[in-house]
Amino acid sequence: MTPRIFRRISVDTHFSQLTTQRATIAWAMEPSFVEPGPWTFTLQRGFAPTEDKWEDIAIVVDQPWVYDNRPASNLVGTPVYYRIKLVDGNGVTYYSQVQVATAYWNRYDWSLAKEVIRKETLVQHNKAGVNGWVLKRRYFGERCPVCTNQVTGQIESSTCQTCYGTGIVGGYYPAYEYWVTMNASQGMRKLTADQGLISTVIETVRALAYPVAEANDIWVHGQTNTRYYIAEVKTLARHRGIDLIVDLRLNEVPNNHIIYEFPITCPPQPS
Ligand SMILES: [Zn+2]
Repeated sequence: MTPRIFRRISVDTHFSQLTTQRATIAWAMEPSFVEPGPWTFTLQRGFAPTEDKWEDIAIVVDQPWVYDNRPASNLVGTPVYYRIKLVDGNGVTYYSQVQVATAYWNRYDWSLAKEVIRKETLVQHNKAGVNGWVLKRRYFGERCPVCTNQVTGQIESSTCQTCYGTGIVGGYYPAYEYWVTMNASQGMRKLTADQGLISTVIETVRALAYPVAEANDIWVHGQTNTRYYIAEVKTLARHRGIDLIVDLRLNEVPNNHIIYEFPITCPPQPS
């Protein structure tokens, strides 16, 4: 039996279609899968889990998500199946588990979710919101040749400009815009291994659940450029199993950290 190499694959047809008319397929690899890159992923779509003619939809390299920009028009009521084909740097092919995308929402569900999102967006853009950027952390790709021990994979420098302390070349994917609504800041004292007690600023913010931000990603404040680790993501509002609004706990990154060198390619918009 082939060992499982995809840790998970998820399909979001609800939230992404509410805002952009597309489906998002995301996945994570088992850490034990260490075949050489580049890893070329092809999204394939079919109408049965046992399909023998999978249709190629989109291709990405060393990136764990992809969009189906033209989800099948008969999506409502009809299950659609997705899988990911991976070709590694040696030309060996692997397939993910098959994941079903069911669109079981009725008109009431859609209008209710749309209204929740519309109101939240209004609050963000009117007064309480702060625009910013999410940097999604890279978990695979070329191992950093500068600071990472090529045998053990151990990261030997946290000030590396090639991988920003992640051990993977590039460190993070390019920034995408992400608005949040800030709550009151809290100061906290935290124990760290090498520095003893330090003060750190914890923020809790609320935001839409899409695009997805995850623990260990970075959020950049659009006005102050302060950078935060996303420490925790909690669901605040959910409709029929789909997260709509989330609460993020953010830990401020000390301003001498290498992550401040990571470029934000698109300039913050005036508020
Ligand atoms: Zn490095």
